Amino acid sequence: MVIYRKYRPQKFSDLSGQENIVKILKGAIKRKNIGHAYLFSGPRGVGKTTVARILSKAVNCENLSEDFEPCGKCGSCLEIASGTSLDFTEIDAASNRGIDEIRQLREGVGFSPAKNLYKVIILDEAHMLTKEAFNAFLKTLEEPPERTIFILATTEIYKLPATIISRCQRFDFSRIPMDKIVSRLENIVKQEGISAEKQALEMIAANCGGCLRDTESFLEQILLISPKNITLADVQRTLGLPDQKAIHELAEEILRGNTARAIQFVSNLLDEGKDLSIFVLSLISYFRGILMLSINDNLSEIIAQNYTEEDIIRARNLSRQSSKNIFIFIMRKLMEARDKMKFSDFPHVYLEMAIVECSTRNELTREEKSGKNTDKSDSETNNVSDDSKINQNQNAGNNANNDAYCSEISQKQWSAILTDIKKKNHSIHAFLSSCVPVKILNNDLLILVKHKFHRERLNTQQNKILIESVIDSIMGKKLNIRCLLKEELAQMGIEVNDNPVEKTKEENSVESKDILSEALEMFGGSVVS
Ligand SMILES: [Zn+2]
Repeated sequence: MVIYRKYRPQKFSDLSGQENIVKILKGAIKRKNIGHAYLFSGPRGVGKTTVARILSKAVNCENLSEDFEPCGKCGSCLEIASGTSLDFTEIDAASNRGIDEIRQLREGVGFSPAKNLYKVIILDEAHMLTKEAFNAFLKTLEEPPERTIFILATTEIYKLPATIISRCQRFDFSRIPMDKIVSRLENIVKQEGISAEKQALEMIAANCGGCLRDTESFLEQILLISPKNITLADVQRTLGLPDQKAIHELAEEILRGNTARAIQFVSNLLDEGKDLSIFVLSLISYFRGILMLSINDNLSEIIAQNYTEEDIIRARNLSRQSSKNIFIFIMRKLMEARDKMKFSDFPHVYLEMAIVECSTRNELTREEKSGKNTDKSDSETNNVSDDSKINQNQNAGNNANNDAYCSEISQKQWSAILTDIKKKNHSIHAFLSSCVPVKILNNDLLILVKHKFHRERLNTQQNKILIESVIDSIMGKKLNIRCLLKEELAQMGIEVNDNPVEKTKEENSVESKDILSEALEMFGGSVVS
């Protein structure tokens, strides 16, 4: 059984995709305005010759349905389907590419259709014809024989002479969308009485790049291995692909800066005899997905071709754990490694080097950053306006912890946020002033909190809304606050200064007063001073 033959669409409505083309062709059948030459171009396996066959049947069918579908049962339909029709010829131009074949063809078309209304000649892989054959064929197109339809199919339209293209009605076939391929596969396995994990079918579709024929022949390969039940693991094994979950785990280790674990991972792959070049490609592709998701969640549509829904959810989580620059850095390093791996006797060494570079990337940026910061503060002290000097003096207490401040929020802004919150709610201010803004990731403002208790207080719905609205009014930006403990930030690959903002004496006393009033609020008492 060859699945793609068994399930080859016999009617226009059986097709997956190419709806526009079908609409136009049906319109032509309806108006009885059939062209004498059609050119079907597009990638392989997207239905060009299938549509050509259905069209051949439709124009000749004795019992055409109301919506212009061939009946599949009349003499003409059956003869075309079985290849016995005298009026239907399918030529593979790849093996009949010379002038003699085309001459024979021309002589053949000299006769009117034997039985049918139309004689149909499908010329598959039309770009393979020789120059002389094209010239001979052009003469046929210039004086088209009556009631004869030529259908040229090609994957490489640019190889066709313009003179040929201009004499045909051209239809550009597109790749078939992933969801259509998946639902078609679902249909086939159902009819075959096989159970299949949806993710497995998605993975098959994802790896065939919108080519239905490949997808179906791949499904057949899988069925040889697991004839009753298709799992994701079967598909991955057959494709020689690393388990996507493993890819995710390695990406996670790299982002978290767990160099040793990441390297161990590669070593295990080597032990298992995995192909590292395929593996590194999958890893690059995964980081591409993470990058896309970090730019905009809507971009998940772009990567949906390659991933299952579950993969996308996991990648989305990782996309929130670091910045675009880091993802780009990692992709670049992995791509460099891959180029070098091709020509090396020790490909794994390049991959290991790249992984070390990527997973220590956070350290590098910290070093670079702290280096820059020192320079900056030097120049600031030497070359600043009086105004900012005053500012600096005012914030002298905080300056010691400059590192802990995130680059996206200035100290001035953070102070303004605290002041504003203080006006609205003393106890939130008390908690928040012991916290440090660390980083803006997408739309999340990561805030370092000292104690779980602080976080719980800040994280109540009401308090969050208040804090976020103040941040919005000061920064002009809607941010979600995420309060995290030091360890949690470290898990995301973000190292922060241990002792957040040192307070000036005055601030300290304000804070302690605020905590006191918070405590009083909680336990109901009054200050006796
Ligand atoms: Zn029919």
